[in-house]
Amino acid sequence: MSASTHYDVLIVGAGVTGTALLYELAKFTDLSRLCLVEKYDSVASVNSHAHSNSQTIHCGDIETNYTLDKARLVKRTAYMVINYAAKLPARERERIIFRMPKMLLGVGKDECDLVRRRYESFKELFPRMQLLERQDIADLEPNVALVDGAWRKDEIVATGTPDDYCAVDFQALAESFSRECVRLERSANKQISQLFSTKVDRIRRTDGGYLVETSRGPLQARAVVVCAGGHSLLMAQEMGLGLEYSCLPVAGSFYFAPEALNGKVYTVQNTNLPFAAVHGDHDVKERGKTRFGPTALMLPMLERRNPASIKEFFKVLRFDRQVAGVLWDQFKVRDIRQYILRNFLYEVPHLNRRLFAKEIRKIVPSMTVEDISYAEGFGGIRPQLIDKAARKLRLGEAKISDGQGIIFNMTPSPGGTSCLGSGENDMRTIAGYLGARIDESAFERELLMGHEDTRAPKSILTEDAA
Ligand SMILES: Cc1cc2nc3c(=O)[nH]c(=O)nc-3n(C[C@H](O)[C@H](O)[C@H](O)COP(=O)(O)OP(=O)(O)OC[C@H]3O[C@@H](n4cnc5c(N)ncnc54)[C@H](O)[C@@H]3O)c2cc1C
Repeated sequence: MSASTHYDVLIVGAGVTGTALLYELAKFTDLSRLCLVEKYDSVASVNSHAHSNSQTIHCGDIETNYTLDKARLVKRTAYMVINYAAKLPARERERIIFRMPKMLLGVGKDECDLVRRRYESFKELFPRMQLLERQDIADLEPNVALVDGAWRKDEIVATGTPDDYCAVDFQALAESFSRECVRLERSANKQISQLFSTKVDRIRRTDGGYLVETSRGPLQARAVVVCAGGHSLLMAQEMGLGLEYSCLPVAGSFYFAPEALNGKVYTVQNTNLPFAAVHGDHDVKERGKTRFGPTALMLPMLERRNPASIKEFFKVLRFDRQVAGVLWDQFKVRDIRQYILRNFLYEVPHLNRRLFAKEIRKIVPSMTVEDISYAEGFGGIRPQLIDKAARKLRLGEAKISDGQGIIFNMTPSPGGTSCLGSGENDMRTIAGYLGARIDESAFERELLMGHEDTRAPKSILTEDAA
């Protein structure tokens, strides 16, 4: 490997975000020298690994923290994943996306009213979604509606789809993108290098673009996109970018129970805590098990189970009065304070199962402490950004760029679902910067059509909705 290897675009990180972008650049642009650099020896070893996340395709129908406009935006990116996978040969597709029932469950009068109201305003955007009364819920998920054959005591109602693609193995998806690039390299006469066990140590701007110093020598590229999870912010700050941000890594753990659900059961979110509500998921990899979670624990590390990333966390934390202010603003909210404490206790052996069983009983009322076990080795880290200037915690994905051919992606939940949407944005930015051509009709055919046609004019999908 030598610095004379001069790529058009170099991507750092072979999770689902980096591999999706590599695939889109290779498939839809005329850029012919592409490179992906990953520090581990295979794709999707960190947050995109099947053990690390909840395996849900978030398309906006069951996420009560989304407005209708946001759901419209999210739906387009979510269906890019489904449209991509649905065109693959059955054997490959069946390892990536999974059909199963999915529902948003309301428990108690207030939540049931909210679910019914939400159904009325969202049903046009999601025509396959149904209002599920008690009997319908029992038909799909008996353990949610019934206890020992009798109706559970609480009032319940749900919205959902009885049988649609709603689960995904992001690891298998990333592997598929990577394989597709190997195929494209052979057939499209492009150089698409995928370098594993190669750690990026430093990125420097040069006259012609960027010099990327790696553990196996230097590489050069005209443009660089960093898709390295929490490490993206570290690399941005080392280049003097994104200094207005700090990072709050939120670890998510899971609990296993014997198969209790046929699909995915989400609950109503607390408006103060988007994406914090516990859900139950039929695991797509661990057969015969239902996964409940995730929990949310602040951990001082950029990568779960990687102690070396503790030091790196303190570099990006850049603790000062503004960071303290944002954390204090969160801590002042009673719901958030209680949530932080509860989630701390979920990690305390013995006590954790007892406490978490209570949460699970909202979904499966007959669940006992003896039924559940802490899912050792499962769960990842959501690198949430703290915006110091705006004095707030930023939820969802974020991009840092100075418009000079370098982009840094931060991808907390639901960053897996938005891999191709994020890749589309980066592809357009980079193609514009390098003067490359995009094959729009191929892009539409492959990603916006197939299982569902989402070719709405992009103008109605306003970024404000985010
Ligand atoms: C508990 C939990 C539940 C979640 N549930 C969902 C869900 O249901 N649905 C959903 O859509 N999303 C979910 N997410 C979010 C989703 O998992 C992530 O958004 C997604 O996996 C991010 O992918 P990525 O490729 O950006 O990052 P990663 O998969 O973390 O990949 C980053 C890659 O960069 C590499 N890297 C880092 N530093 C370097 C370096 N210096 N040199 C070379 N390589 C480097 C890493 O090794 C890694 O392979 C969840 C996340 C968590 C933690």
